[in-house]
Amino acid sequence: MTSFREDAAAASEWVARYLERVEDLPVRSGVAPGEVRSRLPASPPERAEPFAAVLRDLEEVILPGITHWNHPRFFAYFSITGSEPGILAELLTAALNVNAMLWRTSPAATELEELALDWVRQLLGLPEGLHGHIEDSASTSTLAALAAARHRRPGGAVICSEHAHSSVDKACRLLGLELHKVPADGAFRLRLDALADLLGRVPAAAVVATVGTTSTTSVDPVPEVAALCAERDAWLHVDAAYAGSAAVCEEHRWALSGVEHADSLVVNPHKWLFTPIDCSCLFTRRPEALRDAFSLVPEYLRTSEEDVTNLMDYGPALGRRFRALKLWAVIRCHGREGLQALIREHVRVAQLFASWVETEPGWELCAPHPFSTVCFRHQGADAANEALLERVNATGEAYLSHTKLDGRYVLRLAIGNARTTEVDVRHAWEVLRAEAARS
Ligand SMILES: *Cc1c(COP(=O)(O)O)cnc(C)c1O
Repeated sequence: MTSFREDAAAASEWVARYLERVEDLPVRSGVAPGEVRSRLPASPPERAEPFAAVLRDLEEVILPGITHWNHPRFFAYFSITGSEPGILAELLTAALNVNAMLWRTSPAATELEELALDWVRQLLGLPEGLHGHIEDSASTSTLAALAAARHRRPGGAVICSEHAHSSVDKACRLLGLELHKVPADGAFRLRLDALADLLGRVPAAAVVATVGTTSTTSVDPVPEVAALCAERDAWLHVDAAYAGSAAVCEEHRWALSGVEHADSLVVNPHKWLFTPIDCSCLFTRRPEALRDAFSLVPEYLRTSEEDVTNLMDYGPALGRRFRALKLWAVIRCHGREGLQALIREHVRVAQLFASWVETEPGWELCAPHPFSTVCFRHQGADAANEALLERVNATGEAYLSHTKLDGRYVLRLAIGNARTTEVDVRHAWEVLRAEAARS
């Protein structure tokens, strides 16, 4: 038997080496379906194996089947970062292995979660007095917010724009809520006239506005949506899963204007705040509404404390990971200035990429690009652009994804990894141009 110390040293050495060489690995895994599984024993071992055997298979079998989200040329979906302080904090979290369901079951976990969320609130310039807690994903945060809205207004519908994230559809399906989608304008923002019209015809429990839509990062007109919600007393949930983090920089705060009137707001530090997945912050002005919807205390969970927060009362899950530790570590080890510098650089390089596309014959921009995500396409048919994307991704040099805008197939480059530099983005652009020239 090797000792825990030796295994831990070997694992941490593996992590350090991985981070050093990740940019030399193909971004998108090239394995065929079933290949990884076919290389591993189908049944569990009878006798204990050393941890070194796990590390060996990680290197030889698992790694080729990994698509490297921590690669500086990962530009698909929304690019994310497992930053070094976040990686280390995940190790510490697993070592402590506390369940933060009640204050009593680990007071520090609850109190650090409340503190870290208040730090995020301050970093984003959000109003004082918001209650914040962590869920695993924006999908769960939105589900929780809409459950609270339903509890407050049973039978009411939900309204969002056609560009809202599919997690709104899923939450409505799970909660048995009717969902109405209103069309977006030419810049992919929720259309206020259509919203006003629908609110006049349908009793609404909630409206979901998006700050940074998934396809184009468009920003719905939240102040005007908030005014319409106030007239109808409908719950306003703002989904800022990606773009909310941009508000650590004052020049991007415009995107969150109006959220002071929102009933709830979701921002994912695991998207653009350098925190390893999973970590989603749900803020609300109405913590009592979340408690009304979710608090359910069986005898075995009753404790004698009063005036403490039991975070199990604010969302669907009872058992809760100590996610605040990594968020707190990431914020401390970057500082406000460090977070701002990364976000500013991502936005700068994305704007530079957009300028290259705009001035290159045969290419066009397909949407406004207020943050670090650019929608664009090469001249020609959808099928040609789809084939181009596949060729680019198959090179392993860069990984991009796509969306559909106004019925057209569009390529999408999203910058969000802390290791991404201008050199990486230029490299991706060269691969795009080279592959387009071959069509
Ligand atoms: C990514 C994203 C989501 C979903 O986030 P998860 O944490 O994966 O559930 C929801 N809304 C928006 C706008 C997003 O960009």
